[in-house]
Amino acid sequence: MISSIRLYFLGTGGSWPTPQRNTLSIGIRVDDEGLLFDCGEGTQTSLMKSSLSLMKIKRIFITHFHGDHFLGLPGLIQTMSFYGRTEPLEIYGPIGASSVLGNLLSIGYYSLNFEIRIEELKGNGSINFGDYSISYAKANHTIPALSYSLTEREYSKLEESKIKEMGVPRHLLEKIRKEGSVQVNGRTISLEDISAGVRKGRKVSYSGDTRRDQSLLELFRNSTVLIHESTGEKSNESKVISYGHSTGNDAGIQARDSNSRKLILIHFSPRYNDIKPILEEARSVFQNVTAAEELMELEVGIND
Ligand SMILES: [Zn+2]
Ligand SMILES: [Zn+2]
Repeated sequence: MISSIRLYFLGTGGSWPTPQRNTLSIGIRVDDEGLLFDCGEGTQTSLMKSSLSLMKIKRIFITHFHGDHFLGLPGLIQTMSFYGRTEPLEIYGPIGASSVLGNLLSIGYYSLNFEIRIEELKGNGSINFGDYSISYAKANHTIPALSYSLTEREYSKLEESKIKEMGVPRHLLEKIRKEGSVQVNGRTISLEDISAGVRKGRKVSYSGDTRRDQSLLELFRNSTVLIHESTGEKSNESKVISYGHSTGNDAGIQARDSNSRKLILIHFSPRYNDIKPILEEARSVFQNVTAAEELMELEVGIND
């Protein structure tokens, strides 16, 4: 059972870094385990400024191989080596991941003290990691690209009065959730005996770079938090779309139509000094919206 899911906005600007914004990276801490979604330049220094330790990063999910989404990887990996990491690191990405990452990780001279496991994700699918799963779907960009969702496992709420009545020791509660039943003094107590229904898991979705596309709504459906790119404004729509991106208006529509609860905008074109117009047009479609700021953190609450 997961108690805390916390988001770290480590890089929030699109295309190239500016003095105000690093390129893309979102950290997610699931209890004690760190995940990264994209790893643009500057990710490792942002991590050092945040409370998410770079040594806790266990899995990295890359949306696509435009530089603003992955060029921070070699530096981050070399620093992990300097820090004495020995645990394996998993990196997931779209088609081409093995060759791009293979080349990237073989540049320069350094000694790697840990194993890097690279997995190419094809089509749409889902990987189960126990307490949470990661789903992915093809995004609508100019090169092979993925959008991702992290979904917490559904979890059975337990009825306190029934736990007492049946005499189930507290240390067996997690076991009964996982296995469906336990033995107490020779009696079999099943989950149904003490269950108070199911709590849906929290869900965090991340669009990566994409045009607005209805086929992504299924992946984003009922997200607690949808992090969606919004490269520019509707007034500049034809250009935004021609580069494979979304406007603030598009992001608002995706949040509304996927029945998401909160929208966070990210990946602003570096041409914008003030991203308020993008935020306002998203808000005109979907009320509960925030523009990501560098080093912003957000706890994803159970009741959010
Ligand atoms: Zn990008
Ligand atoms: Zn891109």
